[in-house]
Amino acid sequence: MQASFKTTCCYCGVGCGVVVHRDRQGRLTVEGDKDHPVNRGMLCSKGMNLHYTVTDTSDRLMHPEMRYSRNSPRQRVSWEQALDRTAAVFKAIIEKHGPDAVAFYASGQCLTEEYYVVNKLIKGFIGSNNIDTNSRLCMSSAVAAYKMSLGEDVVPGTYDDIEQTDCIFVAGANPAWCHPILWRRIEAARAANPRLKIIVSDPRVTQSCTMADLHLQLHPGTDIVLHHAIGRLLIEQGKTDAAFLQQHTNGYEKYREMVMQRSITEAALICGIPDTAIYDAAHYIGEAKGFMTMWTMGLNQSVVGVHKNLSLINLHLITGKIGKAGSGPFSLTGQPNAMGGREVGGLSNLLPAHRVLDNPAHRQAVQEFWGGVPLSDKPGLTATEMFTALNDGRLKAIWIMSSNPLVSLPDVRFMEAALQKAKFVVVQEISNKPETLAYADVVLPAAAWAEKEGTMTNAERRISYLHKITDAPGEALPDAEIICRFAKKMGYKGFDYANAGEIYNEHCRLTAGTNIDISGLNYQLLKEKRSVQWPYPDGTKDHGTPRLFTDHSFYTPNKKANIHSFDDENNSEPINDTYPLILTTGRIRDQWHTMSKTGKVSKLKQHITSSFLEIHPEDARERNIRQDDLVEVKNERGTVRVKAQLCTTIKKGVVFLPMHWGKILNSDLNRANNLTNNIVDPISKQPDLKYAAVQVLRYEKP
Ligand code: SF4
Repeated sequence: MQASFKTTCCYCGVGCGVVVHRDRQGRLTVEGDKDHPVNRGMLCSKGMNLHYTVTDTSDRLMHPEMRYSRNSPRQRVSWEQALDRTAAVFKAIIEKHGPDAVAFYASGQCLTEEYYVVNKLIKGFIGSNNIDTNSRLCMSSAVAAYKMSLGEDVVPGTYDDIEQTDCIFVAGANPAWCHPILWRRIEAARAANPRLKIIVSDPRVTQSCTMADLHLQLHPGTDIVLHHAIGRLLIEQGKTDAAFLQQHTNGYEKYREMVMQRSITEAALICGIPDTAIYDAAHYIGEAKGFMTMWTMGLNQSVVGVHKNLSLINLHLITGKIGKAGSGPFSLTGQPNAMGGREVGGLSNLLPAHRVLDNPAHRQAVQEFWGGVPLSDKPGLTATEMFTALNDGRLKAIWIMSSNPLVSLPDVRFMEAALQKAKFVVVQEISNKPETLAYADVVLPAAAWAEKEGTMTNAERRISYLHKITDAPGEALPDAEIICRFAKKMGYKGFDYANAGEIYNEHCRLTAGTNIDISGLNYQLLKEKRSVQWPYPDGTKDHGTPRLFTDHSFYTPNKKANIHSFDDENNSEPINDTYPLILTTGRIRDQWHTMSKTGKVSKLKQHITSSFLEIHPEDARERNIRQDDLVEVKNERGTVRVKAQLCTTIKKGVVFLPMHWGKILNSDLNRANNLTNNIVDPISKQPDLKYAAVQVLRYEKP
């Protein structure tokens, strides 16, 4: 039957509203939802081609599969057989080795309900905190920094601040390609307000730099030096807010002393930019009435990611530019539901509704609510720790949901060796392409976007509803249903949900009294409103809470925000004579993550057809490399072989690889994460994916 459905894009954390039209033959088309407050009818190239990801079922997993030994091929089995065997193996491992011998590795692309049930299963009933997700690779440094500075993992502002600000500092991000609809809002805001200044810091000249008033092309890893230097100038030029500092912050004096220790000339030298550029940045920020910062992986995916985040947030705290229209720190979420996952506690160090593991009252409240086993206070394994634990035998079984870690994790050959050693691997997936399938003992086919319903939360705390539009192919099931069926096979009570709405309503009730309280919300109300911004406590009207901290009362014990002080060292892998170049990795405009969805849309493949290495012409000349030559990028961990793209848009001494490509025809030589390393930020445990020492050589055919 012909029909139209309002739903939400499942790619990036912008969270655009989409209208999907289904004709009488069941064919789907999409357009931007003109009534949606995020995108107002606009869609980017990925959003405009969303429907192909479900209408083309040629790569879809259709039925469960299983193998009985590592060397035997997988065979088609029924859901009963697959889940009976999985439950039997999990029970046996837990009985013999304890609950911490199993783990779930999920995804920021899971719906909130899916996150909720898998978190409830492992923490509330299996009794381990071993659940982590690919959001660890994306947002965890920002999460830690928000908690340390503002007392809670919250993005204070709202997208509408874009139209009310005078200065946007985009740090380590390329929203023109990776958050395109937000960027279009920034372009429109700039057209309406010529006073709006845009600063971009990035070692590469990206598309986002084309509109910037100031591009700070800094050396990789020097962001903290830059942010501290801007802080010093704001103080010296009298651009701080004395009343705000005194009434609403802790730690300013120590910060002031710290930033005064490095001169602007010295900072400019370290960053590799003119000192005038730092003065210009401080001038734009100091003169602006409204000041926003936006950042993503350039700050987060770092061995000092938390400090990079804190040093940027400090600029808001010393100027008092937070909790006001047009002002605030604004981490841009890479994945569509990284925030929703954290709301339900879907990381190895979290409990539902941002409760914390080391608080006995929090653990007790959740246990009483769920009615399961006592919750463990031991933090679970994080993303990369899970694979280390598989390698050394502490972890026996891993269940991978909606994620492709053998393309996205650092030092991916180490991760492959880890899966090889695992006693039992479950892969819950929509596609038959991911590299993890080669290691799977059990494969569970999952429903994709538009084949199931549920909710997601975007980067501005906006919870949106996603409609079921079409049936999943074959025997594929919604992820939440798969987890609940498994939980019942394990003999656990509390997983008898009739639908996604019942799961969501349980989650809403569990948030009551917390900082992210949405107890005033329920599934039906959300469907009526289409989207609301949390918190949404009982009695909230309209569409929730667009802006936090308007009263400058923060979530810290004394209600003051914390200005943190720390040195500006970068502890990344050092370059040396053998590996003299810094490799940084990133994204291209029309691909998403490891391409399991966008990679099958021919229109999206036309933009950039294959992987490539960006290299500065001087670095290329020293190596006798010409445009389009095949080159090998190497270090101790691995090799990548791609064509060279000579460009002056990258800093000399730095090379760039896109992170999307995995194995092609059994060759892994396109995979950037062959080269990245497993060093993580000590606080957030986020890997240092933007910095690895490599050599580049022209490839000569043997
Ligand atoms: Fe989807 Fe992000 Fe593009 Fe919006 S900007 S259409 S959420 S991919």
